[in-house]
Amino acid sequence: MERATVIVAIDGPSGTGKSSTSKAVAAQLGLSYLDTGAQYRAITWWMVTNGIDIEDPSAIAAVAGKPEIVSGTDPSGPTITVDGTDVAGPIRTQDVTSKVSAVSAVPEVRARITELQRSIASGAENGIVVEGRDIGTTVLPDADLKIFLTASPEARAARRSGELKGSDVQQTREALLKRDAADSSRKTSPLAKADDAVEVDTSDLTLQQVIECVVTLVEEKRAGK
Ligand code: C5P
Repeated sequence: MERATVIVAIDGPSGTGKSSTSKAVAAQLGLSYLDTGAQYRAITWWMVTNGIDIEDPSAIAAVAGKPEIVSGTDPSGPTITVDGTDVAGPIRTQDVTSKVSAVSAVPEVRARITELQRSIASGAENGIVVEGRDIGTTVLPDADLKIFLTASPEARAARRSGELKGSDVQQTREALLKRDAADSSRKTSPLAKADDAVEVDTSDLTLQQVIECVVTLVEEKRAGK
């Protein structure tokens, strides 16, 4: 029997096509969409804007509960605000990107954001696609379907440089590998594949092929296969 709601967790390192895939799958299947990386970027933006020392985990922990982060979950126009300010642009700067791993490694930050993510997922009436690093392992361990996207460092760097117009592929590759290493080695819910996740290597696939693959997996789940 078809199930009314479905919760899909999509994890993986940067540049594997997580965001584009998750948004398109959610739009195609009429599901909500949550970009959890944007939430960690938003709290990082708030820390930087308020002069919090990013090198000091206890300073970050002390104020982790302060900013109010609100995510809009329409896959055709996801939004993110901090204390009512639209931060969709500012959270994508190089400055925030280089600091987000340090902020997201702080347990108090993760506890706060994880709680927010669970409440958004449980309130999504038609189901939701949630993308991140620890969704299948920690945030939503009971998700109906878990996907782990991977790709070679070369493919990931090439994609990211394409997105960041005019950037150097080699520099992008180094920054990306550094961020992945930090995200994978932190103590609290690191980037990891859940045991029951389906791994999809996107290195040699077009975005359209990845989307079709994930849509098929969701439809099979919904049909109870
Ligand atoms: O996906 P995106 O590159 O925007 O994520 C930014 C950062 O947010 C990651 O490098 C990671 O430090 C953090 N993150 C996380 N857990 C998630 C999603 C993102 O720690 N579920």
